Amino acid sequence: MTPAFVDAHHYSETVLGHIAEPHNVGAIERPDAVGRGTNPSCGDEVTLYLRFEGERVAEAKMEILGCGAITASMSALTDMAGGKTAEELMAITPEQIAEHLGGLPRHKRHCAQLAQRVLRDALKDRA
Ligand SMILES: [Zn+2]
Repeated sequence: MTPAFVDAHHYSETVLGHIAEPHNVGAIERPDAVGRGTNPSCGDEVTLYLRFEGERVAEAKMEILGCGAITASMSALTDMAGGKTAEELMAITPEQIAEHLGGLPRHKRHCAQLAQRVLRDALKDRA
């Protein structure tokens, strides 16, 4: 099993790929839910947009100003969100986001946590 958080100061190949070409960048014109969050410690600012079709996410996009780890975390999260219900989204953990990335350096854990917070903020917005 892939470890979620690793004692390393370099990013995995997967993380570097997401940083080079983040997935699902931009805004959704008529989102059903918008979540926002900031990370004062590394200056990350994140907005997440979700569009649902029925009970499931049809589209997830994000806008980011921040470090590589939050870029990769949000890129992974928007990939993971597709097709999920609100209940399934609520169950996503920072560990799962980090695992999806092939591991994140332990000192960047707060970035995966911010991704989860922004997701939950969006779900509150929808409710
Ligand atoms: Zn960060």
